[in-house]
Amino acid sequence: MMIHGVGIGRGVAVGPVLTMADPLPEPADEPRSATLAVDAELERAKGALRRVGDDLEQRADRAENEGQRETGSILRALGQMAADPSLLDAITSHLASGQTTERSVYEGFGDFEQRLSALGGYMAERAADLHGIGQQVIADVLGVQAPGIPSSDKPFILVARDLSPAQTASLDMRQVLGIVTSQGGPTSHTAILARARGVVAVVSAADAESLSDGQTVIVDAAAGVVGVDPSDEEIRAVEERQRRGAQARSLRGHPGSTKDGVLVPLLANVGKPADAALALECGAEGVGLFRTEFLFMGNAEPPSVDEQAKAYEELLSRFPGRKVVIRMLDAGSDKPLAFLTAQDEPNPALGVRGLRALRTHPKVLEDQLEALAIADGRTQADLWVMAPMVADEHEAEYFVALGKSKGLRKVGVMAEIPAIAFLADKIAEVADFVSIGTNDLTQYTLAADRTLSSVVQYQTAWHPAVLRAIERIARAGADRRMPVGVCGEAAADPDLAVVLVGMGVTSLSMTSMALDDVRARLAEVTIAQARERAAEALSGEHYHPKY
Ligand code: PEP
Ligand code: MG
Repeated sequence: MMIHGVGIGRGVAVGPVLTMADPLPEPADEPRSATLAVDAELERAKGALRRVGDDLEQRADRAENEGQRETGSILRALGQMAADPSLLDAITSHLASGQTTERSVYEGFGDFEQRLSALGGYMAERAADLHGIGQQVIADVLGVQAPGIPSSDKPFILVARDLSPAQTASLDMRQVLGIVTSQGGPTSHTAILARARGVVAVVSAADAESLSDGQTVIVDAAAGVVGVDPSDEEIRAVEERQRRGAQARSLRGHPGSTKDGVLVPLLANVGKPADAALALECGAEGVGLFRTEFLFMGNAEPPSVDEQAKAYEELLSRFPGRKVVIRMLDAGSDKPLAFLTAQDEPNPALGVRGLRALRTHPKVLEDQLEALAIADGRTQADLWVMAPMVADEHEAEYFVALGKSKGLRKVGVMAEIPAIAFLADKIAEVADFVSIGTNDLTQYTLAADRTLSSVVQYQTAWHPAVLRAIERIARAGADRRMPVGVCGEAAADPDLAVVLVGMGVTSLSMTSMALDDVRARLAEVTIAQARERAAEALSGEHYHPKY
């Protein structure tokens, strides 16, 4: 049987289920004994709140000392929730109305939770966080064990309705192999913490409530499913995946390199400055593609120079001394922009897009370059700037000269139009670097719309025609000492990454989650082996099209 949910991260775990104890029963709604004065009871409630708050603070300190900054700050924020004066006010008013202390705490937290839920979205998810703290405070008032993580002498898969962030943060990772929750969303703090701690988790799996203690399950976060009562063969496959994953992760922090030490920087593709955190966590050596469209999309007007400079600065400041390649706005085709893109192009993928679109709007182009130069001046990163969809050396020369006139030091172009492969030697004379966008290069080489599933069988950079285009560019780069990176999806395929390196590509940029696997595969081959695989792939002898 398969239970579907939302996976957090890409890990996989297998083990016996242990379900979490039910929450505390709702405190009875009955009047407080006349002998218990409001002031004394308020002190009891305050004491419980303080102890729970202190406990959260201590756990925050511990997490931070272990280098878990995100966990630390979430625990600290929860501690602050427990100390919120409006929470104490609500508890006080329930006490004053004659309710028991535990009921007053219950109601006080309930009022606060309701207010958060009414706000919806992110704030509503914080209501679940608050509920967990309320349970701890009530347990403290009653002097009973707080509902929490079960313990066992054998490692287990924890199955719960939901976990509070504090519980997630304090999971003993030697005991808990993975977690499955029937509730909780992928953006809850619990999920954020699970991701940050590398806990294998599937959340929002409603059917998980049918699981019982001792049942064996596979928690497959990459697929977002829980496999119940797996076969021996399925368990062996999981163990093999875990072995490879652990091996791959153990190389984090090491530079990308072949087995014999040829360095190939492994960089991250990012879509907004906040993505820097995951990139760094996954061991990115810098950024190989920052798609700047996010700043422009959905706006009637382009953002100001100032606004843009702030966003670029935010990203660059996360990578002092490291390479960050920022791509100019790539509007048009499947990314139309109201203020830049013509509405009446019958075939927009072959229309005014990328650098062509920017040239028809020189102010947008110059403002972006100026914003980049400002951000560069304020930060210590090694900024490289490139234009998308460059067709020949004339366009390359134009863009490089303009970028340099604004004070940018490294200015290059993307190779996405096949023409550029035929002119690679000319490009190498004018550009500081080339970054190959294999997504568009494949689309245009094989005349297959990348957004159309009916031609998906043509959309592979393994096609020898695409590989030969890449190889021409890499060779021209090597002849003239011009760096040639790849930043399309092809770089994220570990086997293809080896082929690209064998063809002379000097850096690879990919989605952060792919870095571990690519780093590990590269480390398994020598440069001579990579060259052999490149020659074989270029020959096309083993390429079998699926059409
Ligand atoms: C590409 O075309 O390969 C590329 C990296 O750019 P995008 O996917 O943003 O078009
Ligand atoms: Mg592209």
